[in-house]
Amino acid sequence: MIFEVIERSLRQPNRVIPVKALLGNCDGSRMPEVIAARLTPAVAQRLIEVCPTTAFKIEEHDSRPHLKLSYGECIGCGRCFEPSEGAVVAAKSFYWCGHAKDRLVRVWDLDSRTEITPLPGQLDAGSCNGCEAEISALTNPYYDLERFGIHFVASPKHADMLLVTGPVTRNMADAVKTTYDAIPSPKLVVAVGACGCSGGIFAGNHAVVGAVDAVIPVDGYIPGCPPTPAMLATGILEVLRRRIAK
Ligand code: SF4
Ligand code: SF4
Repeated sequence: MIFEVIERSLRQPNRVIPVKALLGNCDGSRMPEVIAARLTPAVAQRLIEVCPTTAFKIEEHDSRPHLKLSYGECIGCGRCFEPSEGAVVAAKSFYWCGHAKDRLVRVWDLDSRTEITPLPGQLDAGSCNGCEAEISALTNPYYDLERFGIHFVASPKHADMLLVTGPVTRNMADAVKTTYDAIPSPKLVVAVGACGCSGGIFAGNHAVVGAVDAVIPVDGYIPGCPPTPAMLATGILEVLRRRIAK
């Protein structure tokens, strides 16, 4: 039996996800996409009530109500979909991976129902291991991050980029700083997952210092809880693209 399975598997053609289908893909992440035309003040109020992480907020600007969504605080729970009357759906594409923190926030004018934000062109610090499971998948033959010349290394001394997952716990804060210091310059730091971006569901906990940028400087953020391998690859490549563009 096992030999038949092996034989069948050896006969299968190799499959690598094409770059075009990889970048920007967020299938399975349940990150929210807002359909601006369906937004009303009542719907916006419901979004705030159901969101467990305060990722949605209503703020006044120039006496006009604005709905704000911070992807760095979103854990992709999907609770905002059902009560939104079609104003919030699961995103199929996601372009907010690998950018600076202020680019993780989107804002809609509730009066005009229009978005007013422009579209943006491993170290475990205390995570639940969900993000690590997705990071591990990056090196499998399907996503194959190594095709871009990116390899995971065992020592910070051999690294150019540090991926940090999880909220930074008090126990791990010194280890995060030491690891950062051990990486030779120039170096890049990417905060991974809602926990790395904002503290996620652990924000405010007594055992947690906060997001990764509370401890070391961060060059790019990849939201999601956890981000999918496609979102991780998109974010890592975006951070590299921005560094090269500098
Ligand atoms: S999917 Fe994100 S924005 Fe929606 S309720 Fe959950 S945490 Fe809040
Ligand atoms: S972002 Fe989600 S999956 Fe990643 S460490 Fe935090 S709770 Fe776990």
